[in-house]
Amino acid sequence: MTNEELIAKYNKPVPRYTSYPPANSFVEMGEEEYLAAVDQSNNAAVDNISFYIHVPFCQHLCHYCGCNSVAMARNEVVEAYFDALHREINLLLPHLDKGRKISQIHYGGGSPTSIPLHHIRRLNEHLLGSFGTIENPEIAIECHPAYLNDEHWEQLIGCGFTRYSLGIQDFDENVLRTVNRRPSLLPVEHIVERLRQSGAKVNLDFIYGLPGQTVQSFARTIARAIGMRPNRLVTFSYAHVPYIYGRQRILEKAGLPPEAEKMRMFEQAAEQLARAGYCHIGMDHFVEPNDDLQQALERKQLHRNFRAIAHGASRHRCMPWAYRASVS
Ligand code: SF4
Repeated sequence: MTNEELIAKYNKPVPRYTSYPPANSFVEMGEEEYLAAVDQSNNAAVDNISFYIHVPFCQHLCHYCGCNSVAMARNEVVEAYFDALHREINLLLPHLDKGRKISQIHYGGGSPTSIPLHHIRRLNEHLLGSFGTIENPEIAIECHPAYLNDEHWEQLIGCGFTRYSLGIQDFDENVLRTVNRRPSLLPVEHIVERLRQSGAKVNLDFIYGLPGQTVQSFARTIARAIGMRPNRLVTFSYAHVPYIYGRQRILEKAGLPPEAEKMRMFEQAAEQLARAGYCHIGMDHFVEPNDDLQQALERKQLHRNFRAIAHGASRHRCMPWAYRASVS
């Protein structure tokens, strides 16, 4: 079978593979069943514990967005949501063995940095005050750099994050304007340098297949990113599913690149990253050779260990609190 035939055969929309079970396999669970799963998680062979916190708020919605998020939530709504998170943590604490150690906390969204950052700090303190941690736990947050000034970055650093994922998507401001995405407030190079000084690792996230992107323009974006030597770099393929997210139809009018060109954007980026010494560890994830994930892959110790089943929802619906895949 030729590559083209293989691509044609498997070029179908599938759930995101970054969580398992994938979003479309999540089921509603009753309270009893859920708590039984949480209790049972205490008996897992690897007993580290990981938390995923979903923050479903953004300041503006990007036209391509396929996440569970609402724009411009009122302060009362954000406060009510975080109160609920604290209450849910308190409800679950009696079910979790206090001897378990946190290996990972991840804040995703939405855009966790689009809200007053004291909410994040308090939640982090709540979790870290409830359990010990392994040596060098990963405390990570997805950041939308459009709304963060120097003071905000200092506040995040003060929260003790060890990894930041900056949602860049593209450095081409025409592309960003077309998809209703605000560019970074500060030069990304400046942000990366400051985060590095704090001792944290930095990921840069991109999307290919958006209107206005070409193989050449996306190559320029990736070249600029490589110049910053992020610890990890992700090139997400834009998932066009207007039958789920009607707002994506706007991008059809703006003109989506043909599939073949989209594929070339990825191939070109993968070549640039390989030449720069990055390892390709997943469909669209690239890491430096000394990255934990790459080393775990080499030792064949990478496994996904789910401690409990997410509470009847996923990041594409509403997930007040859930466990996430972790590397132990
Ligand atoms: S910032 Fe992220 S979650 Fe928010 S609208 Fe844009 S893509 Fe969606």
